[in-house]
Parts: sequence; structure tokens; C-alpha cells
Amino acid sequence: MEIDSMVANSALIRARGGGGGKGRSWKWKDMLRFPHISQCVELEKTLGQCVCVCVCVCVRERERESLCLYVCACMFYMCNVCVSERDYYSLCVKQPIGRQLFRLFCHSKPELQNCNSLLDEMGEYEVKSDEEKRSFGMQIINRFLSRQSSECVQVVERYGERCRESLEEQHSRDVFIDCTNDLHEYLSGAPFLQYQQSMYFDRFLQWKMVERQRVTKHIFRQYRMLGKGGFGEVWAFQARASGKMYACKKLEKTHVKKGRGEAMALNEKQILETLNSRFVVSLAYAYETKQSLCLVVTIMNGGDLRFHIYNMGTSGLEQDRVQFYAAEVCCGLHHLHQMNIVYRDLKPENILLDDNGHIRISDLGLAVTLSEGNLVQGRVGTLGYMAPEVIGHKYYGMSPDWWGLGCLVYEMTAGRSPFKRKGERLMGKEMERRIQEEEEEYGKIFSNETKDFCRSLLNKDPRHRLGCQGSGVYGVKSHPFFRTINFRRLEAGVIDPPFKPDPRAVYCQDVQDIDEFSTVKGVILERADNDFYIKFNTGAVAIPWQTEMIEMGCFKELNVFGPQGSRPPDLDW
Ligand code: ADP
Ligand code: MG
Ligand code: MG
Repeated sequence: MEIDSMVANSALIRARGGGGGKGRSWKWKDMLRFPHISQCVELEKTLGQCVCVCVCVCVRERERESLCLYVCACMFYMCNVCVSERDYYSLCVKQPIGRQLFRLFCHSKPELQNCNSLLDEMGEYEVKSDEEKRSFGMQIINRFLSRQSSECVQVVERYGERCRESLEEQHSRDVFIDCTNDLHEYLSGAPFLQYQQSMYFDRFLQWKMVERQRVTKHIFRQYRMLGKGGFGEVWAFQARASGKMYACKKLEKTHVKKGRGEAMALNEKQILETLNSRFVVSLAYAYETKQSLCLVVTIMNGGDLRFHIYNMGTSGLEQDRVQFYAAEVCCGLHHLHQMNIVYRDLKPENILLDDNGHIRISDLGLAVTLSEGNLVQGRVGTLGYMAPEVIGHKYYGMSPDWWGLGCLVYEMTAGRSPFKRKGERLMGKEMERRIQEEEEEYGKIFSNETKDFCRSLLNKDPRHRLGCQGSGVYGVKSHPFFRTINFRRLEAGVIDPPFKPDPRAVYCQDVQDIDEFSTVKGVILERADNDFYIKFNTGAVAIPWQTEMIEMGCFKELNVFGPQGSRPPDLDW
């Protein structure tokens, strides 16, 4: 390895090893300084009725989110129509800082104090293993849903008997669902209104103002290049304020323009920002520099599955790893499909590993959102992984992704893709013919379940393919191939991966082996291009940004209030 590479790698490894506030800039507190609450009120005043109306008629969750600060301001001060249960979910459940502050508020009220603990325990019940559920569930009932208990939560106490009965009957599924929903419904009423008049909500507005600060390249530190894509390079980045590591995918403006990639770039950004799944990379920031459009996403230090299948000595992976990765990919696809998104680019190099060995789906450049019940047409994907219906110019829904999962499981198992022998060079036409006409072969390395799983997914007719029938994704999850996987626990992130990447290794090509990105000449950026850049340049994304603040300890250190519940000076207005 060359010296440049070693230097770049060790700088990256050192940065990754940070934590406990180590990677933060010495100016981090200035970077995250709260505006005075009067400035938040100012903002509210300038918004006026019209924003309020926009928000009220806005049906899409994401648009609500992007106007969130305005929502808060307007529904508090002007428009009571906005105070719906929906907003409670966004402000007090989904947004991590909102959730923390609402909880602090509840904690300050004796009559609400036990609600938090009850919600936590019911959440924990969901991810307990089947053996533990019964006794854990009974504990919850005795502690919070029994009149005699000092911690009884009165508003949902009536669920006690029913939960006890259903625990005794089946002791697993959905025992506390109604109780959870009802508790949220109660909290979204009077307590939510009270919250909005408390210092905790003022603080929330201040955090939102910090979140909405303009994002420029100066708020990040740059480490080595991690890879190269179609429109530019991907680099390891670190947020200076918190020390959190990210990957930054740069799309060079000239390349995008020359390749007419504007719609594609915007599509990738807009899809990424609506997603929130531990099995798909999350977008934390989108911003522009003079030369590039930048997507700052979850950094995946463990390399891609292609690297693990082919470059780790043996070709192919052990069965438990194949199962685990397939199950996590399945959860990622489930999340996308629930939002009517077809991914269309499933292949080993787009599945990335994190520090712990969990995977995430990345590269959503080809993903597309279908309008309710509609199909799309379009020959996109990577040759060798395209489904027969995609090659054949047919209309399709989610079916190409299940085909893709079949290819992936095959390739992880056999160490080669299903329609190409090892080292074989193929013309595109021949590859297409094989995909559309030939049966794939299964060697001895395939267990019966794996073979049956791949065969069902690699059915050439999407109507008969596993995943594409009435039961959809549940059909896939209940296949015997996954019989040892507990999907509920997997989705909660409580299952340990079978393989953990080496924290001292850099799982990507040496820097000097990644070709220089070519420059484009003769492309002039004009005024009109700006409209597109503005749509792209939306800054921090609420949930990942707030997660960063909490995870890196910034929230805890900065979110101090005055002594014993009194209003701290900066909140006094
Ligand atoms: P393109 O859409 O142009 O194919 P990708 O999003 O696939 O671009 O990124 C190109 C390469 O950059 C990937 O193959 C991978 O090596 C690296 N890369 C992309 N995203 C990440 C990430 N989140 N963490 C680490 N490396 C990444
Ligand atoms: Mg890619
Ligand atoms: Mg792409």
C-alpha cells in the first residue's frame, strides 16, 4: 500500500474511533447556539395566515415535516385546526428531540409521570423473545394497569383486564396495541396543548431553529474518498458540531447537467428524505457548493456485499450470513414497498455493511415512487440483475425487487451470479436471453430451503413469483428459508449480526486505485439551473439531524434548563 493511502486510512480510522465528544470542533457550542426565544416568535409573526393555510391543506406527511417549525408556531398561536393527532405524532413521537422534550414535560407533571414508563415498557414488550413475553407482560399490567398499584396510569387502567386475558390466551401478539394507541390519543389531547405552552416547547422551537441553519461545506470535515459513482465521488465526512461521521455523495453540477441527471438527482434526494428505516441509508443533509450537489448519508464502514462475497478469500458466504443479510434486505424492501417505492437496483455492491455488521440498502438513484395502484415501465437497473419483465419492456409494480432478492441470495450462496459462470464474459444480448429463457442451475452448495427460496423468487413470470402474490412481503418472510429469523426482533435491531467488520480495517479500494473523476468541459451553468439547485439545497433533515444531536451527546449537554423547573434566563420572555 502506498504511503498516501496509509495516511488517508489512518486519519479515517482515528476519526471513526472518536466519540464521547472527541471529534467535535472546539467551537461546537457556538455552532449550535440557540437563538433567543423572541427570535422564534418573530419567525411565527412573519409567517402569517398563509403559511398556516398551506399547512392545513397539506396532506403529505413530508411536506408537513418540512414546514414543521411553521406548523408548531401556527398551530400554537393561530390555527386550532392544525392541532390534530397527526401533528402530535410528528412533534412528540417521530422527531427525536421533540419526543425527548415532550417526555421531559410529562415527567414534570405528576399526573403524566408514569405515561413515559408505560410507553417504554409496552415498546419493550414488543421486542421481547416469545418465552419472556408472558411474565414481562404481566409485570406491566401489575405495575401500570392495576388500580392498586401506586404507578397506575388511570386513563388506560381499563385495559388491564383485557390485556391480562389476551396474555393468558396467546401471550404474544398485539396485546398492548389498543392500550398504546389510546394512551397516545390521550396525550395528544390536553397534555399536548399544555406542552405547547411550556418552556419545553419553547426549547423545541429553539432546537428547530438550529436545525434549520444554512448548511455549507464548512460545517463538515473531509476525510478520504470512499468510492466513485456516476456523477461524482463519495467521501468520508464528519460533522464538526457533533463529531458524527457520514458519507457525502457529491454530484458534480457539470456532470449532472451534461448527463441530464437533474430529475434523477432530485428524485434520489426526495426519496431518501422521506425514508426512515434502519435498513436503508438515511439522508441527514442536502446542500450545494459552487461545484457540487451533496447528499450526506449514513456512513457504512463495513464495505459492500460484493467486496465480502469476492474479496475476502473464499467466494460466497456462509449460510447464516446469507440468511441474515437476505432478511435485513427483505425488511428494507418492505419499508420501501410500503411507501410505494420500487428500488430497481438490487445487487451486492449496493448493499453496504455498517460497523456492527448490519446492512443497509444504498444508492436510490433508480428508485421510483408509484402512484397508488399504478404500474411503471422502464428498462432500468444493472445488466445481469434486471428482471425478465424489465428487460421485456413490460409494466411492473414491486416485482423486480423480489427478482433482485433471488439474484442476491443466489450470488451470496454460490459466489457467482445466477446467469453467468465464474469469470465468463458475456454480451448484453446473451445475458438478456439467459435471464428470459434459461433455468438457473443449483449446485450442491444450495440447501433445499435456499434452492426453493431462490427458485420461487427467480420465477420468470412475476404473477407467480414469491413476494408478488396476495400475501406480498409476508409470503417471503414466512418462507422456510427464514425459519430461524425472528423478524420482529430483527426489525427492532436487537439481533446480533453473524459477522462484525474489523474496526481497524478500511473496506474499500486504496485511494490511488480509485480513478480520478474526469472533468467536463464546455458545460456552462446558468441562472435556470438555479431553480433545480434550490429544490435540492434543503439543508438538514429533521429526524437524522435530531438523532445526531442525541446520539453524539450534544442534546444532553446543551439542553439545560434553569434550576428546578424555573424558566432559565434565555427562555424568559
Ligand atoms: P452511484 O449512484 O453513482 O452508483 P453510489 O451511491 O452507488 O453512486 O456510490 C458510489 C460508491 O461510493 C459505492 O459503490 C460505495 O463504494 C461508495 N459509497 C456510497 N455510499 C456509501 C456510504 N453510505 N458509505 C460508504 N461508502 C459509500
Ligand atoms: Mg451504485
Ligand atoms: Mg445510483
